[in-house]
Amino acid sequence: MNSSAALTAFQALLQPQQMLCAPVDMQPYLIDWRKRFFGKALTVLLPSNTAELAQIVRICAEFQVALVPQGGNTGLCGGATPDQSGQQVVVSLKRMNQIRAIDLINQTMTVEAGCILQTIQAAAAEHNLLFPLSLGAEGSCCIGGNLATNAGGTNVLRYGNARDLCLGLEVVTARGEVWNGLRGLRKDNTGYDLRDLFIGSEGTLGIISAAVLKLYPMPLCQWTSLVATPSITATIELLNLFKQKATSLLTGFEMMTAESLNLIEKQFPQMANPLGENPPITVLVELSDHESEAHARNLIEEILAEALDLGIASNAIIASSIAQANTFWQMREHITLAQAQEGANLKHDITIPLSALDEFIATTDALLRKRFPKVRIINFGHLGDGNLHYNVAAPAGSDSTIFNQANEKIVHDLIYEMVERFGGSISAEHGIGQLKINNLRAHKGAVAHDLMQAIKTALDPQNILNPNKVLSIKSA
Ligand SMILES: Cc1cc2nc3c(=O)[nH]c(=O)nc-3n(C[C@H](O)[C@H](O)[C@H](O)COP(=O)(O)OP(=O)(O)OC[C@H]3O[C@@H](n4cnc5c(N)ncnc54)[C@H](O)[C@@H]3O)c2cc1C
Repeated sequence: MNSSAALTAFQALLQPQQMLCAPVDMQPYLIDWRKRFFGKALTVLLPSNTAELAQIVRICAEFQVALVPQGGNTGLCGGATPDQSGQQVVVSLKRMNQIRAIDLINQTMTVEAGCILQTIQAAAAEHNLLFPLSLGAEGSCCIGGNLATNAGGTNVLRYGNARDLCLGLEVVTARGEVWNGLRGLRKDNTGYDLRDLFIGSEGTLGIISAAVLKLYPMPLCQWTSLVATPSITATIELLNLFKQKATSLLTGFEMMTAESLNLIEKQFPQMANPLGENPPITVLVELSDHESEAHARNLIEEILAEALDLGIASNAIIASSIAQANTFWQMREHITLAQAQEGANLKHDITIPLSALDEFIATTDALLRKRFPKVRIINFGHLGDGNLHYNVAAPAGSDSTIFNQANEKIVHDLIYEMVERFGGSISAEHGIGQLKINNLRAHKGAVAHDLMQAIKTALDPQNILNPNKVLSIKSA
């Protein structure tokens, strides 16, 4: 590694404002959103186009300097934070934020990696089109980060995750070459799917510089409802009722337990549950309709009436305005923030097959409460996809730092053992980063893990792209 030669080469390539070296300037790029991971860096670089990005990677390859790609830095697994060595370079894609083209006939948009998700949604909406990826951090996360983590969010039930919304990529490889795969094709069976290899690889195989995204017709209207249900079993029955009756109009189905909403009431009292005292489960249901307001309204009323008759719902409110619908969504989106305000907690972003979900929750809740009486289980998430944010917080009034330090491994091991037993995944949508790197081999199995390592070594033989994220590989 020759860091001083690399620094000299970066200086020759970039404008001073594109190369941050002062600790105070670098600081925001060195801490993750949860303030759990802290790193140091040789420098933070902000390329403004693909050619500059490729040149940066070529310099890193020549001088064997590792680099950490970063988008909005909202990731929840520490994937965008450099290590403690002070020898890694953070490459922020923020300045590469152009919308290159919107193709109204093909219904696609070509964007640079640093485009903020919300900007993309708004640009599509100007043409009465929808870019459906939607998540709590959409005001600051970037599409490159969304694709690198294969982000999920609240619309996966209808439109799929980031992978399903991307048709093509432009990627800078570990050698600093540019792979131009920016084709807006819905069918393309020409050998190995490189696009899918880079999506979800968390910056370890290449740096995404641009993408072609799928757009959809903007729904005419949306109806949002909050529904109280007596149990997880009833909630899953409610989901299946909506799937059967509303079919593709069902675009959101989010679950919040009473314990999750108790936190909202405590941290954000203005967002208290309009259903009154928190029922065991509160579900946020959203229907999106292309026919008419009346059609959607009648449908949601009809399904809710049936759910109440069947006893799988005990109460329901339909939002009477867009503003009220927004308050329902805010309540859901603020659970993550309420947890952050309450103190550190032990997070688990898991998926369980819907057929095993009620048994998984009953078994795991019981084991946790037996081991840690009064522990708080903040369980909420995108239930329509079987994705739970199954988070564990110290008993109310006790010190969360002490609780977490003493019990983190026990809690993770217990939950991940149950995830395996019930056929689930230890990372539904947030990725592996550095947070779950030690759990990956046991979860994927030796064969899959060895194949992943072989791919990494083939694409990045010097191990300069985001080393020690996802996989631990010894640098050459
Ligand atoms: C309040 C809140 C709510 C959230 N809700 C959701 C949710 O519902 N669903 C969900 O999936 N996630 C959610 N997240 C997590 C996070 O927003 C997503 O993981 C998001 O996709 C990260 O995008 P980013 O631009 O911030 O990426 P970063 O955090 O900057 O980076 C994430 C990873 O991608 C890599 N990377 C970034 N850009 C590139 C690039 N151009 N090329 C290659 N690699 C790159 C980084 O090295 C890192 O490994 C939430 C986060 C917060 C704070």
